[in-house]
Amino acid sequence: MTTVDLLRAPLVDGFRRPITYLRVSVTDKCNLRCVYCMPETGLAWLQRDDILGYEEIVEIVRAAASVGVRSIRLTGGEPLVRRDLHRLVAGIAAIDGIDDIALSTNGLLLADQIDALASAGLRRVNVSLDSLRPDRFEAIARRPGLDLVLAGIDAAIAAGLAPVKLNCVAMRGQNDDELEAFAELTRERPIYVRFIEVMPVHENLGLQQDTYIGAEEMLERIRRTGELHPVDGPGGNGPARYFAYEGAAGAVGVISPLSHEYCDRCNRVRLTADGRLRLCLFGDQALDLRSPLRAGASQAELAELLRSAMLIKPERHHLRLGEASSRMRAFSEIGG
Ligand code: SAM
Repeated sequence: MTTVDLLRAPLVDGFRRPITYLRVSVTDKCNLRCVYCMPETGLAWLQRDDILGYEEIVEIVRAAASVGVRSIRLTGGEPLVRRDLHRLVAGIAAIDGIDDIALSTNGLLLADQIDALASAGLRRVNVSLDSLRPDRFEAIARRPGLDLVLAGIDAAIAAGLAPVKLNCVAMRGQNDDELEAFAELTRERPIYVRFIEVMPVHENLGLQQDTYIGAEEMLERIRRTGELHPVDGPGGNGPARYFAYEGAAGAVGVISPLSHEYCDRCNRVRLTADGRLRLCLFGDQALDLRSPLRAGASQAELAELLRSAMLIKPERHHLRLGEASSRMRAFSEIGG
């Protein structure tokens, strides 16, 4: 192997996991205030200068692609509140080696932006939605907008972004009586509904403990609506386990960080809006990339920093009911 080959060897962490997936948070701000995520008054937002510009994000993604990262997901906060997000999508789509660009959004602004995003190269979208009832949507998100989210989902399907995934945080006493209705959506529509266990962060510890439902209980409840068969998920090494009704257009998944850990398959790292490479959603291990980038680091130097970060990626998280495992107050701080 030549030195150049060695410099380009794909990222592998200290536990031999290939790291091919980078989640990029483009903002810590959000236009919702979901009860399990953020206080009603919001959080202390990052200053404008602290946040990476689109060109800076593209530089980091280019370096990541040179060492084997293939998939990018834009997240936040709410990524669609950042102006002209399609410009960033186009910048990332032009990078050699990146073959998948996805977006996680609450969907409020999706219908307006989907055409620009899809033409820029966005391939897939995950929409977060915790209730199909307008009043309850507003109670959980602390803002109205169910109609806009449903329009966003329709627009994404119409724009040919497939598969569309819906992420629903299942909470006892808040929306658990809607699990069946969410699951039924997958019979007729090409939608992958994923139920997520509510996870503990500093802002939600009481609520997390009171409303937590494990994935097995979720599945048991959905099974009452019809027989479900295990199926492969749509592409790759994600954290969800999927099941489908006979002949259904979509599938139901569960994501169970607390009850059914999947760290051994972890293939991802995260870039925060202020340019820190975060090695685990639930641990504080991170490496500042913004300072070297702004000091003029070359692509090779950035790639080397990414490689060095592999040494501090932890083997697994240590999440427990009602206990925060890191200093993070809410997922919006680092890109959930
Ligand atoms: N705003 C975008 C969205 O709504 O998808 C992206 C960021 S949001 C933090 C990403 C996902 O994290 C959403 O599906 C949200 O419901 C989920 N989330 C936030 N806090 C959570 C928690 N404490 N437990 C489980 N899921 C959480």
